[in-house]
Amino acid sequence: MLAAYISHADCLLHEMGDGHPECPARLAAINDRLIAQGLLDVMEHFDAPLVSMQALARVHSKDYLQRIFSLSPGEGYLRIDPDTLMNPHTLQAARRAAGAAVLATDLVVQGKHRIVFCNVRPPGHHATIDEAMGFCFFNNVAVGIRHALEHHQVQRVALIDFDVHHGNGSESVFYDDERVLMCSTYQIDIFPFHVAGEQSPRRINIGLPARSRGELFQKAVEDHWLDALDRFRPELIYISAGFDGHVLDDMGGLGLLERDFAWVTRQMVHLAEKHAGGRVISCLEGGYELDALARSASSHVKALLGLDV
Ligand SMILES: [Zn+2]
Repeated sequence: MLAAYISHADCLLHEMGDGHPECPARLAAINDRLIAQGLLDVMEHFDAPLVSMQALARVHSKDYLQRIFSLSPGEGYLRIDPDTLMNPHTLQAARRAAGAAVLATDLVVQGKHRIVFCNVRPPGHHATIDEAMGFCFFNNVAVGIRHALEHHQVQRVALIDFDVHHGNGSESVFYDDERVLMCSTYQIDIFPFHVAGEQSPRRINIGLPARSRGELFQKAVEDHWLDALDRFRPELIYISAGFDGHVLDDMGGLGLLERDFAWVTRQMVHLAEKHAGGRVISCLEGGYELDALARSASSHVKALLGLDV
């Protein structure tokens, strides 16, 4: 099979209290939609393994890992920041989410699959080297990328992030890593309120104003990402797939639609076919309006599989 789907039931056990938008129902909504669309029939399914300490330590500091492992509460919740809490299952779920990115990397590098979608939570792109924040504990995509670079000796990796929020954690991890080209779009003036670092040949992070619609998003990708990615010739493409830029998602104020997520995905598949043997690994990040999330993720997966044309 061309494609693999990685998830784990443990990712449903992490929850941060009633009414919290980053909730287990997100994964179920995506899973149900992928089944209804027949997409899971054409993907091989894997349970996400627990990530190893070695893989985590390629991204996160020893101090942080010791701290987060020792903080795991036996019962109730432990508040990490105003919006981010641990319950007794959080650590296990976070280890599955990062483990999914590692397994996805092994599958594509070993040539078993070309396309992998990881339907996992907690998300990862706000987690920095030494801090959990913004619903994120381990930087899943970053752990996968470092596994590719350091375990499999891949030379060049592209990290694509179209979540409505800037992937500040990913930027901090790869700031000085010449092997990684990070291309992102995000809405300015919302969480995490960090201005993206200076643009460089390895960092192309484009802030979009509130209410930007698909035309502006696509223009940003065309004007800023595509040539740079073509010149970089990534051997693997990772996507931090956040769908909270959808017009119906009130976590942000962008006006993206399912077709915009499908469009950017097709661009990445095209680049991957040209330079990366068609290999794309996508990990879920944000997306909180459940119907819009499920439809957007399904459009994204359809585009990854080349089934939407
Ligand atoms: Zn987000």
